Amino acid sequence: MRLTFTDEQQQFQRVAAEFAASRLAPLAASIDETGLFPRDLLAPLGALGLLGVTVPRAWGGAGRDYVAYALALEALARESAVVAVIASVNNSLVAEPLAQFGTDAQKHAWLERLATGRALGAFALSEEHAGTDAANQQTRATFDGTGHRISGRKVWVANAEAADVVIVFAATQPDLEHRGITAFLVPLDTPGITTRVRADSLGVRGLGCLDLEFDDVHVDSSQVLGAPGAGFAVARWALDGGRVAIAAQALGVGQAALDEAVAHARHRVAFGQAISNYQAIQWMLADVATDLDAARMLTWKAAAAKDTQERCSLEASMAKLAASEAAHRAADRAMQVLASAGYRRGSKVERLFRDVRATEIYQGTSEVQRMIIAANILAG
Ligand SMILES: Cc1cc2nc3c(=O)[nH]c(=O)nc-3n(C[C@H](O)[C@H](O)[C@H](O)COP(=O)(O)OP(=O)(O)OC[C@H]3O[C@@H](n4cnc5c(N)ncnc54)[C@H](O)[C@@H]3O)c2cc1C
Repeated sequence: MRLTFTDEQQQFQRVAAEFAASRLAPLAASIDETGLFPRDLLAPLGALGLLGVTVPRAWGGAGRDYVAYALALEALARESAVVAVIASVNNSLVAEPLAQFGTDAQKHAWLERLATGRALGAFALSEEHAGTDAANQQTRATFDGTGHRISGRKVWVANAEAADVVIVFAATQPDLEHRGITAFLVPLDTPGITTRVRADSLGVRGLGCLDLEFDDVHVDSSQVLGAPGAGFAVARWALDGGRVAIAAQALGVGQAALDEAVAHARHRVAFGQAISNYQAIQWMLADVATDLDAARMLTWKAAAAKDTQERCSLEASMAKLAASEAAHRAADRAMQVLASAGYRRGSKVERLFRDVRATEIYQGTSEVQRMIIAANILAG
């Protein structure tokens, strides 16, 4: 086994890292402070291929593989967790399922725009009573002869504040449960859609999360994404990639926390010497570095599986579970190493500590990842 990256993968990682250092690092604290969606970053992200990483070049994407995507997202997240999620939603949850399941007309309407940053996508699956139990969709789409009429409320729709198009999941045959859900590609300016501001959140502030209310919204049959009744399969396919992306995002946040802890440990003096000389500190750093690298291996393995297999649910869930929990521990240990300097409101570690927490919740909680992993190993 040789663990090496291609020149293309490394070059793409460098592009993302340079962008993160030059454009995200100076802005990350103020995005968190204001909670404002960073619209101005969409054009440069798109120009670098970071909003359509795996979308074929013919459709305006960067035509890269998932390994390159994971490397790039970790690099973005090292400087801004929230920008990495914004990109991952557009890539994994919108552009990729559109490229995979979309008709030519749907692709012509949206794919190039999404991949280049001229349009932004969102993904509306969750509802008040359909989070972990995502198949419990109360949003209904009723056939009216020419298309469907959608009514219901979606919650926590990331990117919604700036999005142009949203993939909406709705029950078309509620008695069939997850086999009766259909995905629709819906422009956000369609009459009948009202946006509602979400309550403020602990971290990843600036993600543009809104609730979306659909009041008898008419969509044409041509707006069905994938086959009618196959919406849940579309969501699951998209979430395979999305979870690899969140694993990479978590690693970026965890690595940033480790970097802060190492820098602080080298310079902070207690009892006449740098605290990095104390074994108590060294062991924290060693455990965090080992944890992150183990999770990184799973993330790269999952990304490679996404590139080579039809489905990679097991690998993606293992990567997301390991990376989000390792990154959480990394932020926690970094807080311990920095102590009051980290606990101070406005410190970088304080932001990382808040940002990392969501990685164990969105795109399936850690409990969901464990359920998927257990189901896979028990079935085998
Ligand atoms: C910042 C942020 C951004 C988000 N962005 C989006 C988005 O863009 N699009 C979207 O559709 N959704 C989005 N979500 C919603 C997210 O996917 C859900 O919050 C998540 O799936 C969990 O659902 P819930 O919050 O309703 O928790 P619940 O489903 O109420 O779960 C509560 C607790 O019970 C546990 N639990 C539930 N069922 C079981 C079980 N069977 N066995 C064991 N434990 C169980 C859960 O793991 C959790 O710990 C976002 C959420 C956040 C916080």
